[in-house]
Amino acid sequence: MNSKLKLQTIVIIALTVSIGFILDKNMPSSSFQPTSSDDLTIILMIGDGMGFEQVRMAQYTEVGKNANLTMEGLPLNLSVMTHNVNLGITDSAAAATAIATGVKTFNGRIAIAPNGSSIKTILEIALEMGKATGVVTTTSIQHATPASFMTHVYSRNNYDEITNQIVENTNVDVLLGGGMKYFSEEQIQNMTADSYSFVTNKSALSSISSGRILGLFSDSNMPYEKERNLTDNTPSIADMTRKAIEILDQNSSGFFLMVEGGRIDHESHDNDKVGAILETIAFDLAIKEAKHYVETHANSILIITADHETGGPTIIGNYLDSNLPTSGLSEEQNRTLRITRANQIDVTWSTGGHTRNHVPFFSFGEVFENITSNLLIDNTDIYGIMNNFLHEEEIVLFDRTPVNMLPYYTLYILLVPITITLIYLIVKTKRSIKREEKNR
Ligand SMILES: [Zn+2]
Repeated sequence: MNSKLKLQTIVIIALTVSIGFILDKNMPSSSFQPTSSDDLTIILMIGDGMGFEQVRMAQYTEVGKNANLTMEGLPLNLSVMTHNVNLGITDSAAAATAIATGVKTFNGRIAIAPNGSSIKTILEIALEMGKATGVVTTTSIQHATPASFMTHVYSRNNYDEITNQIVENTNVDVLLGGGMKYFSEEQIQNMTADSYSFVTNKSALSSISSGRILGLFSDSNMPYEKERNLTDNTPSIADMTRKAIEILDQNSSGFFLMVEGGRIDHESHDNDKVGAILETIAFDLAIKEAKHYVETHANSILIITADHETGGPTIIGNYLDSNLPTSGLSEEQNRTLRITRANQIDVTWSTGGHTRNHVPFFSFGEVFENITSNLLIDNTDIYGIMNNFLHEEEIVLFDRTPVNMLPYYTLYILLVPITITLIYLIVKTKRSIKREEKNR
């Protein structure tokens, strides 16, 4: 081998080694044989603004430091990167679009790609497959997260267009949340003419046992948990989730349901510790309803995640010594206990906005059995998981490189071959000098 070829070989090996180091440590995968292909079901639950620390604050409050919330007890735990298409901090629109379509986009866009084209959502794919579909949220149903599954709009603030699209072409069977004031009377009439039962309170909701439902329980966002009047007939997120599952399960082709705990984000923007904790606990109680369903239905999966983290809270201490909430007490008594305990946790916040912190991914279902915990995935991977599951294809997950490490890794890629080449050249030059000395 001549020395030029040798040099090339060394550089290629160095590059391969350094790229191999950066790329994925392992590729856990899972292939799943459903017992019958026609009833595959997905329940996706998104805690808006819910980071790992919001979950821990809720855990301390609800079950104490040594027990798990329902979501934490699910068998597969991963972390998720949430950056938008510019590698910047995401908003709910870009993040929900990534989860719903697998495409990263600019902040503010609702299921619209960076190039301006509409992107098919996982809910629309489920519809095409003949599945029942549902959307449940504690915000207005026009809000960025629910809208990104049902509609395609350039700006998340265009509530008129989002409402139009919901009424005219979404065909979602169960729609529960706030946002009544954005519907015209005529639009509501169109929906009831199109076989939707229209309800506006908890008892009307519970009286419905089949068919399609439009449930609008407040003018815009639903009330905060800390303020919710527990006797005024407003359903909780757990009530809405339970009813949505009961209705959607009547479709023999399975269903897709997205449930959003939408106000964890709002309380975290306000750096309101008690509020953020109560919203996260309410979300966890809804997860309990969904978990119960997945436990008893083999062809279904449950995914809990967040669109991004808000507020950057950190627990800096606690002096928890009061009683835990329990199922034997009234809702009001439990809320009082939760507020007392939440106030016994000291929390600092780093911002009033969103952060680029990774967010949790908790999941449950036979399909995940061969996938190991603790991987870092991207929010677009969540779409991939759901899409592959619906099409009975293998689910492969990569342990992703954290975005903030990319510049360092790029430097590493360049430095290793350059260093090796330099050493080689120095040795080569020294040798030829020696050879020349000998020949002299
Ligand atoms: Zn927010």
